[in-house]
Amino acid sequence: MKEHSVKLTLLKTLSDGAFHSGESLGAQLGMTRAAISKHIQGIQEWGVDVFRVQGKGYQLAQPLHMLDEALIQAQVSNPVELHPIIGSTNQYLLDNVDTLTSGTVCLAEYQANGRGRRGRHWVSPFGANLYFSMYWRLDAGIAAAMGLSLVVGVAIVEALEKMGLEGVKLKWPNDLYYQDRKLAGILVELSGQAGAAAHLVIGMGMNLIMQDRESNIDQPWSSLSQVIGQDHVDRNQLAVAFIQALDQALRDYELYGMQDFVGRWNRLDNFIDRKVRLIMGDNEITGIERGIDAHGGVLLEMDDGIKSFIGGEISLRKGE
Ligand code: ATP
Repeated sequence: MKEHSVKLTLLKTLSDGAFHSGESLGAQLGMTRAAISKHIQGIQEWGVDVFRVQGKGYQLAQPLHMLDEALIQAQVSNPVELHPIIGSTNQYLLDNVDTLTSGTVCLAEYQANGRGRRGRHWVSPFGANLYFSMYWRLDAGIAAAMGLSLVVGVAIVEALEKMGLEGVKLKWPNDLYYQDRKLAGILVELSGQAGAAAHLVIGMGMNLIMQDRESNIDQPWSSLSQVIGQDHVDRNQLAVAFIQALDQALRDYELYGMQDFVGRWNRLDNFIDRKVRLIMGDNEITGIERGIDAHGGVLLEMDDGIKSFIGGEISLRKGE
């Protein structure tokens, strides 16, 4: 942890966008220039672009606007925990459901082991995106947890629309898309059953200002900066808006379930009336996507009619 605190202090200093010499950084932290250089390497391994100019020192390639726990906490009633460096925000909440209040939020600047569905890796460079999870105790139990990731996706897109950001769509069951590219992923996970209530953790990773050099993502992706049309994204304000939207959506979901929800989803469905492929293990079927049904299944029109598909093993992709 001590090692992280040195890197975080360095990042705070560098976040003003100016050059800082190895010498002055060393003096500030009471260490040698060589030690500073090693910590800078560690920062680069977190995905931050830091470069060094002979005679001038270190500078960040792009400005860094760090998350501010107190600022966010002052604007929401949910307990908020910011852990700059974490394995996975979902895992942290899952590990601590016994002691947490329902509605608790965990935010991070960097995830060492960010994950998507079925354990796939979620690329999570420091300070470039939003990594955010909420713990929710659903008293109605596990059966009511079905469809929740659909509800969460709609709530987040509608929150963006309220901010005047248009064009973000949904891909069944749990991704946000912009111009046919993945902008964010939602992952709902359950902690072990204790009694009747379901302990849910709802996580979201949304790309905000991630740079193109993140080429190790094996499918087309996008960042919110492209939706906004500029590189400055107020990450703290977005975090507040998403916490509020999610909290409200979960409360509504407990009261009304999926009622009246199909139309809201279908309006935002990225692939509605388009040719898609559904991949299920080694099997693949193609058809025209017709939105979702009242159970949260995706509807596919094929030669023999429209069928509903549901289940965690299905991946939807654009058809040829
Ligand atoms: P599905 O359609 O089954 O949800 P998916 O391939 O989109 O499939 P997820 O589990 O939702 O899978 O997300 C993990 C995948 O997302 C990774 O395998 C990678 O392709 C992609 N990915 C990883 N990090 C990012 C990121 N920061 N932005 C966009 N896409 C990412």
